[in-house]
Amino acid sequence: MSPDHRVELSRPVSDEIRKTTCYMCACRCGIDVHLKDGRIRYIEGNRDHPVNRGVLCAKGSAGIMQHYSPGRLRAPLKRVGPRGSGRFEEISWEEALETATAWLGDVRRNDPRQLGFFTGRDQSQSLTGFWAQQFGTPNWSAHGGFCSVNMAAAGIMTIGGSFWEFGAPDWDRTRLFVMFGVAEDHDSNPIKIGLSKLKAGGARFVSVNPVRTGYSAIADDWIGIRPGRDGLLVLAIVHELLKARRIDVGYLARYSNASWLVIDSPGSSDHGLFARNGEGKPLVFETVTERSVPFGTRGARAALSGRFTLDDGREAVPAFQLLAEKYLDPRYAPEAVAAEAGLPAETIRGLAAEIGRVAFDEAIEIDQPWTDMHGERHQSFIGRPVAFHAMRGISAHSNGFQTARALHLLQVLIGAVDCPGGFRFEPPYPKPVEAHPRPHGKAEHFGSNQPLSGPHLGFPLGPEDLLVDADGNPARLDKAFSWDAPIAAHGLMHMAIPNAHAADPYPIDTLFLYMANMAWNSSMNTAGTIAMLEEKDEATGEYRIPRIIVADAYASETVAYADLVLPDTTYLERHDCISLLDRPISEPDAVNDAIRWPILAPDRDVRPFQSVLLDLGARLGLPGFVDGKGKPLYRDYADYIIRHERRPGIGPLVGFRGTDGSRAGRGAVNPDQLARYVENGSFFSAEIPEEARFFKHANAAYQDFAVRMGFFDKPQPVIFQLYSEILQKFRLSAEGLREPVAPENYRPRILAAFSPLPEWYAPLEEEGVAVGDYPLHAITQRPMAMYHSWHSQNAWLRQIHTKNRLFVPDEVCAAAGLQDGDWAWLTSRHGRIRVRVARSASGNAQTLWTWNAIGKRSGAWALAPRTPETEEGFLLNHLISELLPGGGRRSNSDPVTGQAAWYDLRVRIERAEPAEASEPRFEPAPVPVSEVPRELRYGQEWSR
Ligand code: SF4
Repeated sequence: MSPDHRVELSRPVSDEIRKTTCYMCACRCGIDVHLKDGRIRYIEGNRDHPVNRGVLCAKGSAGIMQHYSPGRLRAPLKRVGPRGSGRFEEISWEEALETATAWLGDVRRNDPRQLGFFTGRDQSQSLTGFWAQQFGTPNWSAHGGFCSVNMAAAGIMTIGGSFWEFGAPDWDRTRLFVMFGVAEDHDSNPIKIGLSKLKAGGARFVSVNPVRTGYSAIADDWIGIRPGRDGLLVLAIVHELLKARRIDVGYLARYSNASWLVIDSPGSSDHGLFARNGEGKPLVFETVTERSVPFGTRGARAALSGRFTLDDGREAVPAFQLLAEKYLDPRYAPEAVAAEAGLPAETIRGLAAEIGRVAFDEAIEIDQPWTDMHGERHQSFIGRPVAFHAMRGISAHSNGFQTARALHLLQVLIGAVDCPGGFRFEPPYPKPVEAHPRPHGKAEHFGSNQPLSGPHLGFPLGPEDLLVDADGNPARLDKAFSWDAPIAAHGLMHMAIPNAHAADPYPIDTLFLYMANMAWNSSMNTAGTIAMLEEKDEATGEYRIPRIIVADAYASETVAYADLVLPDTTYLERHDCISLLDRPISEPDAVNDAIRWPILAPDRDVRPFQSVLLDLGARLGLPGFVDGKGKPLYRDYADYIIRHERRPGIGPLVGFRGTDGSRAGRGAVNPDQLARYVENGSFFSAEIPEEARFFKHANAAYQDFAVRMGFFDKPQPVIFQLYSEILQKFRLSAEGLREPVAPENYRPRILAAFSPLPEWYAPLEEEGVAVGDYPLHAITQRPMAMYHSWHSQNAWLRQIHTKNRLFVPDEVCAAAGLQDGDWAWLTSRHGRIRVRVARSASGNAQTLWTWNAIGKRSGAWALAPRTPETEEGFLLNHLISELLPGGGRRSNSDPVTGQAAWYDLRVRIERAEPAEASEPRFEPAPVPVSEVPRELRYGQEWSR
């Protein structure tokens, strides 16, 4: 919205407005916090902020209730009763920090692997990861493995970026927008702003989702697919587009590896790998001179089909030839996949035709000369105005990685990546997978009091980069980057507690959790997880997980299991950094980052967790946190944000760098940097030059801009990897043809899941259960008004959702004799829960669904003992096992990335007798918090 078109607002009733960044979800909108008499009066959107342009959602405005929540922790606590009993004693910060330092110091001296440090949806992973690296434990990750790592990993490995934080639809130009499995809590305000633009401009919006809520409810077309079948739909669309020759051949040849020659030599260790020259450059077959030349040779016309003999006599075919042969096969025809996908073949064919028509018949052109990385000058940007977006709906399945790869394949085939009207990258993306680090934490790298040799998370380029010992045993507690989950780019938070409890692959001493509600809704098998936290070793009488430290601002269900509680502030009481080193908030046309700063001082004995972590780092003498004399390097997190440098001139924030604050990207430390951010509304934004705005993966001007900004030290163009050599290397290991060879028991699943061209296979849970016994799918959605479990304590948001029902299709209700409001038993291979049903026509006919994380445990979040959340709320998590069926300890995850496969759940439903409450029930697990008022009144009980 241009400033000229702003609606006049009424005069503020506040004394003062402080601008900061919202933390009520991960969108990180700019907010204006209105203060009156030293308290928050209300919050509104910052109209100048690049993320939300003044738009504020229900959650954002309810931040006031989050800030004054009675569920806030008020002081450090030490457990004095059994875990879960709620018996804690308040202690001083000095005692808390001394205790933590003693525990962690012992661990670091003896074996740093004995610390497992896992964080939830926090926004300081660049700090927490750096801290864990300096500590020397390989066992660190955040919540991505539970949420959407399939999407992130597939995107980065295929196109160098992915949906949401790494890119966005070109809302201003797209004519057809196709959205797969996006819950309405994700990318909330930007999507709402974008959808309103599409509607206003007459573009068509298609939503593919088993459930028709939120965004799907306003789609022009809703495609109610069966869960876990999105990959089939996408590959059938690919089949149709190839058949109709609706593909952008020039784009494919120039920007993808479609022309790269794939060695055809079955039984050899290089079968399926790319033919390369002596310098390692991939070869293509040049059709004029009829010889193989390196990809990118100026003037070369590379073949996309055919079979060729290399100079050394081996046979090779262009990747596109393999691709076309594969997807033109009748098994991908709409008729062949329709029944499995639960969609009419005409719907699939119609969507494919519309994608092809809009991409090519409504192509757009922007007059802007630019130069590509091959040195070729173009007079304009050609746009294919079809944009896609996807999120956890496709991701939280055991086939989600390949499904996301299929979606990127489709985008590249029609030439719709980073073009006008298509999906567009947001800086610092795109970035080729090779430019990401390899994972660090191999066994030989551990040592007493030693830091890890590099960052924990990254991308293996082949089995040789796995974190396993000589016998193939995992180096990490969660088994990330082992044969169990080779490309676990975000780790497997959901396996931390089960593996620590089972001492598999090894026991640990201390579990350190930050903002991770892993004793409740951030785990599968919730009741089992609670039991694991409570269980003691029979021989020693000690807890099987000996020590648990929890840092949180609120009394979540997990706090009750802590031995030591480090109370955090609210998001309005501390400094934070929304950094490009972490999870960026850039836009396609601009580089953005932002801060939070203390709008108010805490009125409790709490401290910002990031400053506490720096303090612990200094007390432990971790490199990176102390100087040569052992003195703390940083006063607090604000000081760290300003002075920490990852590389010379590169710090957490890109704005106002240089001693006079005039530099962006690279620059010397500026002591006034945070003050400059505050003056600027708590954000920084730098526009990308016009010539650099599209085709960033191959645009020389963008690559120069990225180097200037410090994203890279040299240009890092991306060639889209339709055919993945990395995945083929794993297959060769599984065939015993390449070192290191995969262990026997992992070979079948690697061969099935690591196809170098995107593939669909049935969700793994369905292979291990009698599907006839569990004929229905069960999934969850997050409501638009709530984010994670934090919001069930929010007095305003609780008025929107206080309990959840199981939404059951009419046909299923009729078959089971269920009426609206009846109680029912929902049974999976793992367990049984009692829930209240609502008849619904809002979803796929074989799919039951409910809102996620509404059900609460009595005693948590300072809620009254019997509230709708505890009496009628429920979690599907109780029905989901963290392990796959069939015995053994294979995690219920995607076999490529370790993404938790919680949307694979299969169930049956039966009518239950009338009841008072949902099941299972748990004893209350209370946590001491501020005194809880019976009624919240502004200015009285709130100001405790
Ligand atoms: S979309 Fe998220 S960040 Fe933006 S106002 Fe709403 S809750 Fe806050």
